[in-house]
Amino acid sequence: MEKHSLLSLFSSNPDKYYKVSLFDEKGFKRQSCKLCGKFFWAINERESCPEHDNYSFIGDPPTSKRLDFVNTWKELSSFFRKNDHEIIQRYPVVCRWREDLYYTIASIVDFQRVMNGKIVFEIPRNPLVVPQMCLRFNDIENVGITGRHYTSFCMVGQTCNADAPGGYWKDRCIELDHSLLTDVLGIKSEEITFVEDVWMGAGAFGYSLEYYVRGLELGNAVFTEFEGDENNYRTLDNKIIDMGAGLERLSWITLGSPTSYDATFGPIFKKLVDIIGIDIDSKSEVLSRYFKKLSEIYSNYENDPRLLKINIAKELGLSYEDLEKFVLPVETLSIIADHTRTLLFAISDGSLPSNVGGGYNLRIILRRTLALLARLGWKLDLKDIMDLHIEYLKPMYPELKEHKNDVRKIMQIESERYSSSKERMYSIASSMRESKKKPSVEDLIRMYESDGITPDLLLETGVIEKIPPDFYVKLAELHTTHESIPVPVIEIGSDIKPTKLLYYEDESIREFDAKIVKILKGKYLILDSTAFYPRGGGQEPDFGTIEGIEVTDVIKQNNLVLHKIQAPSKDLQDNKIVHGIVDNVRRLAITKNHSATHILNSAARNNLGSWIWQNSAFKDENYARLDITHHSALTKQEIKQIENTANEVVQRNLPININVFERSNAEEKYTFRIYQGGAVPSNHVRIVNIDGWDVEACGGTHVNKTGEIGLIKILKTERIQDGVVRLEFVSGNKALQYVQSQDAQLLHIAQSLGSSREKLIESFDKVTLENDQMKRKFRVLINRFSDNMATTVTHQATKSKSGLKVYGTFDDVMGDDYYIALGEKSINIDPFLVYVAIVQDHERIKVIVFVGDESRKIIKASRIAKEISMKLGGTGGGGTDKFAQGGGNDKSKINECLKNLENLITNIDSSEKNG
Ligand SMILES: [Zn+2]
Ligand SMILES: [Zn+2]
Repeated sequence: MEKHSLLSLFSSNPDKYYKVSLFDEKGFKRQSCKLCGKFFWAINERESCPEHDNYSFIGDPPTSKRLDFVNTWKELSSFFRKNDHEIIQRYPVVCRWREDLYYTIASIVDFQRVMNGKIVFEIPRNPLVVPQMCLRFNDIENVGITGRHYTSFCMVGQTCNADAPGGYWKDRCIELDHSLLTDVLGIKSEEITFVEDVWMGAGAFGYSLEYYVRGLELGNAVFTEFEGDENNYRTLDNKIIDMGAGLERLSWITLGSPTSYDATFGPIFKKLVDIIGIDIDSKSEVLSRYFKKLSEIYSNYENDPRLLKINIAKELGLSYEDLEKFVLPVETLSIIADHTRTLLFAISDGSLPSNVGGGYNLRIILRRTLALLARLGWKLDLKDIMDLHIEYLKPMYPELKEHKNDVRKIMQIESERYSSSKERMYSIASSMRESKKKPSVEDLIRMYESDGITPDLLLETGVIEKIPPDFYVKLAELHTTHESIPVPVIEIGSDIKPTKLLYYEDESIREFDAKIVKILKGKYLILDSTAFYPRGGGQEPDFGTIEGIEVTDVIKQNNLVLHKIQAPSKDLQDNKIVHGIVDNVRRLAITKNHSATHILNSAARNNLGSWIWQNSAFKDENYARLDITHHSALTKQEIKQIENTANEVVQRNLPININVFERSNAEEKYTFRIYQGGAVPSNHVRIVNIDGWDVEACGGTHVNKTGEIGLIKILKTERIQDGVVRLEFVSGNKALQYVQSQDAQLLHIAQSLGSSREKLIESFDKVTLENDQMKRKFRVLINRFSDNMATTVTHQATKSKSGLKVYGTFDDVMGDDYYIALGEKSINIDPFLVYVAIVQDHERIKVIVFVGDESRKIIKASRIAKEISMKLGGTGGGGTDKFAQGGGNDKSKINECLKNLENLITNIDSSEKNG
């Protein structure tokens, strides 16, 4: 579907689609733009649409009130409340309810759920208004520069289902929005222009009216009325109004300040300016003129901010350098305020800066902020700036305070990580500066990806003169979308009724009778009902038998459960009633592991911090793992605490209740914390509630009470990627077996040491000490002994055709220490010597090569080591001309190597000469 064909569809009938009752009442007339042809509605005659207007409100606001960001919200929310709207709390900026988005990018996203590739709307109150913080990272380099771009902004969403109780349609919507601008803010109707546009997405579409005042777009009311495409469409059962207005802009127009950042961050700027000790107030006249000019000509110079400034400077009668002195501190303050506010919301809502996924953007802006502070030499603590945001935003977002300490902790860790790698980054930068090579955008991206070097740092160190305007865009593009793993699909046909899932009706069923509905490829059985749990949600499938034939895998495809049997059988035919038996031991073990996963996840969060989320999980019979989002590897102490907490929950024997909720009710009651395993693509969610401990949306099998798990034992933890830690664990009988086997191993060790379990550590320390002493004695012995042996070696060496003296030996008793000492001594005695020792150490064969001073003129130790290693089945060796090592594992080649040593060396020798 093309935008322009939609637009022509709607604008060919403007009275039907765009005209609202307010336009007649107030005398708004439809006009078309002489410059771009767009249609718009305004009271006064206009030559062009407002997209071509300058920001004439800067320095001259058209409103009767002067409102900063928070006060704009207060006025706006009380207006909508008076007009029967429910004001709801913002949703998280981390978009857990949509698999295709990391962050909430618009207010309407709050109410969108994806089902079968289609977007459905779930609007919890009707009508409502939400002050939704939105995160977008596609304009990073514009933030601070243009006066109006942000990485996070508040989109006020006025949302309404026209066909549900309380709903209204476009007449009422535009009437309200007009009243907000005129009655509340005091803007004259003559100042307002409505521009016609269209909207489409995910199978639905509609028309929209954007409203502008003095060149600034203040809001966009989208009326989603149809589904289908422009040639074949029908009216939706539930028509949706999605009016989005940037709160930053509404505030800005009331203040008429040079930038929208003044409106949004005013009180924060004041405090920061005091701390840094710079003067901005006296420059506000120049800044006003600068930013007004900027809004007029910015689009002509989008790719060259420097040239843009040079031109504006000329018009203002300043030099570029002088202008920069005015503008740079304001730009930098704005970037810092914007980036810290974004980090505050994102980390509060559970996102961690990292090198992967959505966390990537957070690390970029964090490092950019730190680099900027360093560049200007400003002594500001980002954590303190965040506190200023929390304090200022308290009336709108009181919840920010809850995770204040967690946010501080993450910021601390990230800042330290940055400064500890800084030295390395500076040394890379300085060698780049010396090489005088100019890096391309691709080079810059590579440097950021591999070494964390931001272009700001390169700017600071003089490697580059300006940051390429597309750097941040290109970088963000690499990391914006989730990747999904394609699942192989078995062709089934569409006429089969969904399998009845007995394991949900009664988890305790282990035997059942069912009818075969279809057999696919001779080995996949579809039954009319089943107690076999299919692989899903990280839980491995049940095994067992159907008519005595082993079931080796169970998978779910849409509404059907497919049982894979070990071998095709003539006994199995369509419509036959068969008997299924689920392997009880396996099911129980997996079930305990699954409940244990939920317990551990909350145990980790309670011990570590609110940023802990399940990244993924895997539950099998003998093994389970839980990957959590965490900034660092776990310490021994932390592992122990998590394990203790988890086992306390087991011992408290808490009931686990499973209930199905309507999705919107579950979200409201339990928050988005329920989406530990990802979003749920259905109207109803199954909520697994470990009473008083953990609530998750989950389709897996669970024990009735936590006590049934018996024991949870963490086996191992590992930082598997930046921001993700893996916990491997066992539970139930497997945990007991694990402890028992550990115990048996200890007993074995104790007995081998001739000790007892009680005195094991003491005995072990003693043996270690003895071992160390022995090694020391051995080394002394080798030293003395090898003096004599070295002389023998030189006598035993044979002269090759090229005049080299060659010595080779094999040994599987004395270790490599001895042969290294011996080799070194031997070539000191005889400078013509080539010394090769092959040493067997368990399964591995090691090659040690020394070449004396004279021989080295002809042949190199590293070449010989490499050659022999390859003959022994290894991949090569390494070292210097004098001493090299290598190895392989093909024992059968040792003799051959030693026998042909002279030939081998002669061959290398001649090839070196030829080469
Ligand atoms: Zn126009
Ligand atoms: Zn689960």
